[in-house]
Amino acid sequence: MSTNNDELITAFKAKGYRITKQRLIILNALRNTATHPTAEEIYNMVKPQIPNISLGTVYRTLGALEELGLLQKLVYGGSFSRYDGNVNAHYHAVCLDCGKVLDVDEPVLSNLEERFSSETGFTIVGHKLEFHGYCKDCCKRKN
Ligand SMILES: [Zn+2]
Ligand SMILES: [Zn+2]
Repeated sequence: MSTNNDELITAFKAKGYRITKQRLIILNALRNTATHPTAEEIYNMVKPQIPNISLGTVYRTLGALEELGLLQKLVYGGSFSRYDGNVNAHYHAVCLDCGKVLDVDEPVLSNLEERFSSETGFTIVGHKLEFHGYCKDCCKRKN
């Protein structure tokens, strides 16, 4: 996925955030991976580029980026969250063995929302659908 830094800078400025190199590096790292990394994994990804960064700064930056709507925070009830640089609506599949989170390349069920909404008068602002199971690698390892 390509990243338009100008667009990001505009988003930061609109919310009164300062645009720091750190923030751009962290966001770019997140946008260029499909692994849905944890904060600690992101920390390890950006450390070569920002040697003096702390894990606390990574957490604070992720919080700011979430507030700006530039990332999605994925909470799975565990002790840590995962982060997704793709903010377009999409589903995830979670491996119950290794914890890997994969993007599901299937259309979002907006007609389901529309149907339910027109039947019940319920105003829908979003929905969640998540697939649980075992990834290819874990299946291979077991056999
Ligand atoms: Zn797995
Ligand atoms: Zn995703």
